[in-house]
Amino acid sequence: MFQLISRILQKSVQSMSNCLLCGIDQQQYHSLCNDCWGHLPWLKQHIIRHEQQILCAHHYQFPIDRVILTYKYEQQLQYQNLLAHSLLNLRLPKVQAIVPMPISTQRLADRGYNQMLIIAKIMAKELNIPVWQPINREAQHSQKGLSRIERIENIENQFQIISTERRKYKKVLIIDDVVTTGSSIHALIQALNKLGCQQIYSACIAAAD
Ligand SMILES: [Zn+2]
Repeated sequence: MFQLISRILQKSVQSMSNCLLCGIDQQQYHSLCNDCWGHLPWLKQHIIRHEQQILCAHHYQFPIDRVILTYKYEQQLQYQNLLAHSLLNLRLPKVQAIVPMPISTQRLADRGYNQMLIIAKIMAKELNIPVWQPINREAQHSQKGLSRIERIENIENQFQIISTERRKYKKVLIIDDVVTTGSSIHALIQALNKLGCQQIYSACIAAAD
């Protein structure tokens, strides 16, 4: 199975005008053919994490799980349209700006790009609103030996308001790739609240169980 997936992914790089998943049919929807787009593990529902509603496009299942991993860690940036349009395909709330989940400067240096910033830019263009990045993220300290409350505080401390940020938006949409516990979204919401945001929505590409 894994070999087949690798073959499909590799093939997709070679033939850009064919569907990125099956490599056979022509691209019709955001780099995919009609069939592959229709057969994605669509969820299109809110899930609740930390008493916060998060709108999720997909279940974290094949093939979206593989797509997200290779996009994020193997620089398979050809998936950016598919992932951005997975989010754009949701009933998104009307907001003034998109806030991509920040990554630490250390991660940024390792990876070379913030995968959600690229997606935020595509969405911003479609929705005709700005991308807003008012929060810095610091590298994560070890969560080892901490209580649940301490762990939450530890994550919240990673998200720091950029003091030179002058723009203020009241209604914003956070976007992230995979939601598991929802702790980072929760922490980002706390930071945005401190900045004066009043309506903060969140959308994720995939929800892990
Ligand atoms: Zn296809």
